[in-house]
Amino acid sequence: MLLQITNCCRMACPHCLDDANPYAPHMTEDTCRKAVAFAKESGDYLLIVSGGEPTEHPKFFDMCRIVSQSGLRFSICSNGMWLGDPKKEWAMEKVAKLNGFCGGQIYSNPKWYRLHNQTVAKWKENGSKWEAMHFVFDTTDIRGMKDIGRAKSCPEALKEAENSKYHNSCLTSCLTLVQSPNSQEFFRLMFMQQRFCTPMVDFKGDIHMSESCLCPSCGNVNKLPSDLLWLEMRKFRPCGGCLGGRRYLTEQDPKMVAARRLLGQA
Ligand code: SF4
Ligand code: SF4
Repeated sequence: MLLQITNCCRMACPHCLDDANPYAPHMTEDTCRKAVAFAKESGDYLLIVSGGEPTEHPKFFDMCRIVSQSGLRFSICSNGMWLGDPKKEWAMEKVAKLNGFCGGQIYSNPKWYRLHNQTVAKWKENGSKWEAMHFVFDTTDIRGMKDIGRAKSCPEALKEAENSKYHNSCLTSCLTLVQSPNSQEFFRLMFMQQRFCTPMVDFKGDIHMSESCLCPSCGNVNKLPSDLLWLEMRKFRPCGGCLGGRRYLTEQDPKMVAARRLLGQA
């Protein structure tokens, strides 16, 4: 499950599916506790602490400590803007020593991330230290470009989303969920598919079957207990608001027709 502890980010990528920006809000510690309790009660294995840029949260370490104290394993997903900032590096070192920490992914891409060259240069300076703490630096192409958020008004992103054969919207999560007898089995199957980023709990506590806080939500951890949230998640269906969702709703491929029948959207 993805835990979006903030929607704040200064990278301003044109393809951002969360519309993350420097003025966006952060998750409260109370919401974090409820999101973590929901993940634990549902039988999740691993939380990805993300954003926005998670290190923009003024209580980044405290948020990670809440996750750690739950007993869940967790990793960090970041754009690496904290590299070279002594205060943020210090906080990250403390996070890497918390129980349950199992690594961090720093993602940057020359095509989409405006500070890519600076991030690479900072990693080259000190990357071996972070590698020893189980951080990896990833610059591969974005495989699942989605036309959500700012990407909707970026012609290059729209073209890339159109040509992406990996674009599958929230469909896999919904299909896995309706075929799972309980939440524990759902998270086990998602883990086996290495789909760690869905579902997502956003900075408001809203749950999404996708990776974007801009998608419709199926419930809020501040308002419903875990068992009712699970029932709401089961009822959720791809809305067709993104390219992958639209393809799913109209595609005549027999596998898509079968998927619609399974989800009751035929
Ligand atoms: S894609 Fe990531 S790095 Fe870029 S603006 Fe969005 S949250 Fe920030
Ligand atoms: S189909 Fe709707 S809910 Fe699913 S990923 Fe697309 S926009 Fe989000």
